[in-house]
Amino acid sequence: MLYSLKMRASQSKGGQNQHISGAERILNESDLNVNVEALISRALHHSKGQPDFINVKIEAVAENEIEYIDALPVKTVEVKDAAAGQKVIIELLGKIGITNASDIMKMFSQTYNMRGAMLLNVDTLERLEPNPERGIRATFMDAADSKSNVNDKKNHFREALILASKVVNAPNIIAEVCVSDDPNYVTGYVAAPSIGYVRITKLKELGSPDGGRIFLYRGSREDVEKCINYLEKTKVLVKNISNLKNDPTDSEGNVDYIKAEIENLKDKQLYRTMNTITSPQKAHITIDNRDFILLASNNYLGLIDDERVENAAMKAIEQYGTGSGGSRLTTGNLILHEELEKDLADFKGTDSAVLFNTGYMANVGTISALGVKGSVIFSDELNHASIIDGCRLSRANVVVYRHNDAGDLEHKIKETSPANGLIVTDAVFSMDGDIANLPEIISIARKYNLLMMVDEAHSTGVIGKTGHGIVEYFNLKDKPDILMGTLSKSLASEGGFVCGSELLIDYLRNKARSFIFSTSLAPATLAAAKSALNILKNEPERVTRLQDNVKYFCSELQRQGVNVETKSAIVPIIVGDEGRAMAIAARLFDEGIYISAIRYPTVAKGQARLRAALMATHSKQDLSIAAQKISLALNYVKSETQN
Ligand code: PMP
Repeated sequence: MLYSLKMRASQSKGGQNQHISGAERILNESDLNVNVEALISRALHHSKGQPDFINVKIEAVAENEIEYIDALPVKTVEVKDAAAGQKVIIELLGKIGITNASDIMKMFSQTYNMRGAMLLNVDTLERLEPNPERGIRATFMDAADSKSNVNDKKNHFREALILASKVVNAPNIIAEVCVSDDPNYVTGYVAAPSIGYVRITKLKELGSPDGGRIFLYRGSREDVEKCINYLEKTKVLVKNISNLKNDPTDSEGNVDYIKAEIENLKDKQLYRTMNTITSPQKAHITIDNRDFILLASNNYLGLIDDERVENAAMKAIEQYGTGSGGSRLTTGNLILHEELEKDLADFKGTDSAVLFNTGYMANVGTISALGVKGSVIFSDELNHASIIDGCRLSRANVVVYRHNDAGDLEHKIKETSPANGLIVTDAVFSMDGDIANLPEIISIARKYNLLMMVDEAHSTGVIGKTGHGIVEYFNLKDKPDILMGTLSKSLASEGGFVCGSELLIDYLRNKARSFIFSTSLAPATLAAAKSALNILKNEPERVTRLQDNVKYFCSELQRQGVNVETKSAIVPIIVGDEGRAMAIAARLFDEGIYISAIRYPTVAKGQARLRAALMATHSKQDLSIAAQKISLALNYVKSETQN
């Protein structure tokens, strides 16, 4: 036995009953309970307000009463505004022989206060509803193939298609026109057997409650009753509804494309999750009460829990409170910002510096501000995502050159012959740990009169004898014009910075949108970074310890037969296959080693790898245990997949 389930919710306002929500289903007995619950929930949580009357009606329906029909084919017409949408309706009705469509559309406003639809004789424009206030209710219908679907959210598109398919199948109905009365839903449709169900993306202004339906009737007065009888009494199940994709413009069905993308990521093994760490970010961390050797942190110098850094942050809170209260150009410019900028400029040997809230924002803001219309940005193909996003936000022409390939860069510059522009590269590449060939690249920048920008996120505190970064590493006399970096890695805090000439920094303060339109860094964050920078300056032995650790770890791995090489604190262990890299990282996790598996799209397909990041605070023992376990896991998972 099947049951018809109907829900109508209303609210009495000023003595009048106002419709809030309505829905109906035709269901198996076993699906009734859960669907009743879902529809009541829909009624109770409607954007139009809280109902004070909910009518739930359940009636038995015999199988042999049911008429099965096909869903109308669906087409969507995109329009720019409601007026254009109205025009489309008039044209479509014209196509099916309705010549007075604009007169019909003029009658639409009469439907706004009706509870059901208007039944209109298309030729005489005579209204045929026995009760014009109530109108005609098309009812007793559902999708044939989704009886057990539970949905407490309205999917306008799906429900409208079911209704329209029934309506235009009624005797003497030649078309239906519908505009939703939901203020948040501006899409409407025109439906007819010969044109199908044509969705029109805008038929009214957003926020307008005006909506209604007109059923267009062509035939004799005597047959009207038969038509109404079909619309109001015949039980109809519509086939081929369930394979329809949900409509992304549907105001409440709009999460479906998001769900689909999540499923897609899961299918492709690209879905990401997070681990919850319950200890400070040290060489050893705790997850789920278990101890791990951490080989995946950017806390290169191990300063995150240094007492001096912590005390500086606490003191700053005591003195300045917890937030900065504004953007730098309004009220959020503390002396702490200016002091840290001065220290950073001094450390990098430039005239000036400017802080951003993250390294990401530093790159996005700087590159988009410098990449003016008509300029060209030359960007290494393996640059960090924040550089790529900065390029995307700029007005410049973006040219990507082969990784660390000065020849390709020069070739592309010659090809493009830009009047002005920028070369941008990571100093240390974040997934490979290799170092940009800066002496050559900078000489190309000079030769072609281009600005040179280097991202020092992974080089500050890491490379160069005393951790000053790439300029020290290559002992460059000619510095890049722009040295960008982050406070979030060696400097144990968060935030980004750009060092350069007074002119450049002045320009960024005026033009970099991520600087201008965001509340500035908080006191504790600034004080922590300032203290960490001070330690880096005064204790270069920390940098030496980090560099020694890298050498030791690589030699331990090599001793175990694992081929690795790096010039920074990032040690890539190339695996190749994505699945195998994930399996090895999972096995290492079981063994108490926290190491990242990096796969497409972060690196190229088939280039999946383990990526170890070392710290000055790893002990030699940590590193040899980790090297041993990594080597075992590489062999174990190899033989497992081969067998
Ligand atoms: N550039 C590079 C090369 C990075 O690796 C990162 C951080 N992963 C950033 C910029 C962004 O820095 P932040 O984390 O401070 O936003």
